[in-house]
Amino acid sequence: MPAKPFAAIVTVGTELVTGQRLDTNGAEIASALLVAGFAVVEMLSVADDAARLALHLKRLTDECAVVIVTGGLGPTHDDITRDAASHALRKPLLRDASIECALAGIISRHRHPDAAEQVLTQADIIEGATVIAPTTGTAPGQIIPTATGYLVLLPGPPSEMRPMLADFLNAHGSATPPVRLRSSGVSESDAQLAAQRVLGDRADVGLTVLAAPADVEVVLFDEGAGATELTRLGELVREALGDACYSSDGSSMAETVIRLARERGVRIACAESCTGGKIAAALTDVPGSSEVFLGGVVSYSNEMKVASLGVMKGSIAQHGAVSEEVARAMAIGAAGVTGSAFAVSTTGIAGPTGGTPEKPVGLVWFGIRTPSGVMCERREFFGDRDGVRTRATMYALNLLRQALLDDK
Ligand code: AMP
Ligand code: MG
Repeated sequence: MPAKPFAAIVTVGTELVTGQRLDTNGAEIASALLVAGFAVVEMLSVADDAARLALHLKRLTDECAVVIVTGGLGPTHDDITRDAASHALRKPLLRDASIECALAGIISRHRHPDAAEQVLTQADIIEGATVIAPTTGTAPGQIIPTATGYLVLLPGPPSEMRPMLADFLNAHGSATPPVRLRSSGVSESDAQLAAQRVLGDRADVGLTVLAAPADVEVVLFDEGAGATELTRLGELVREALGDACYSSDGSSMAETVIRLARERGVRIACAESCTGGKIAAALTDVPGSSEVFLGGVVSYSNEMKVASLGVMKGSIAQHGAVSEEVARAMAIGAAGVTGSAFAVSTTGIAGPTGGTPEKPVGLVWFGIRTPSGVMCERREFFGDRDGVRTRATMYALNLLRQALLDDK
């Protein structure tokens, strides 16, 4: 197995190094490069300073097979990436007539006499570069061959960068996509040990474990095993993870729930107290969710639980809002109000205040209503307010998933 080719990422912009904007492109490009079979050895952010950028590009293009740069390709004075790349590679910038033509419409929208020349700098292409036409925005990307591989210039706005990066990696990345197994209700170490037991000490498969609250992703990379073997090992790791594993194609918990509901031809709903709409938000993040997700009630106050879900006032008085009885009534209420076959509910104490010895911060009651009845579950989550709410949201979605799988 040959070593993976080295890659580096350079994000360009004074706004990035002064903390005015967060560099999201860096992380996005790094994960895409990893998936495409590169070893990312360096990622740095550089101010809009052509000389400094040129120095970094010179060094990195000597060392790496692929150097991806984002930012600084626009039309203004601080867009210095083209010049810096031209200096670093000692290749001239040549104005491309067809891009110049495409920019004519944009020039006509400007009034200042110097605007045309500024806009046209985006048509300056490094000698020998392949142009990646923009799908959104105006600045084209450039792929420039170097002695060791490629220097790739991409625009800064993430929506412009993304399709161009995909274009480049489709043509130059490794052909075997990784296996992505996502699990909930299993710890990061348990997931890693389960995968390692399957993989043994084989060196032809790479293993990464990525953890988020209540969500652990095991990623298997092809490092010589080949696509068929990677799929077979993925199946074995999936079996080892068991019921906790909810997707083997990288799809999210909410995507899985929506897909299962669609496959079963049933509709779903939710009633939320402590999660405050996070379950509904996760489900409606999924394109096409309207086919199966009917809606959710955010019943934060006792009055709302009574008025919109039909929870009995006496039940809240007797057992408290965070109780099995109220979770049950909320799930039944959500199904009744929406006419759905399946509904999940949450009522809990997200903290940091409001806990008691009997009902501590982190306690959440869930209700899950299915065609065969209603079940309730009590869980205690750790973490701050955000952590408790995120874990409760994942747990509720997982209850929906299991109900959609099991309830025949
Ligand atoms: P530029 O291509 O340098 O003109 O960047 C245009 C805009 O894209 C910036 O103002 C940022 O809002 C955004 N942007 C640039 N670089 C990044 C990055 N690394 N991560 C996220 N957004 C970025
Ligand atoms: Mg910039």
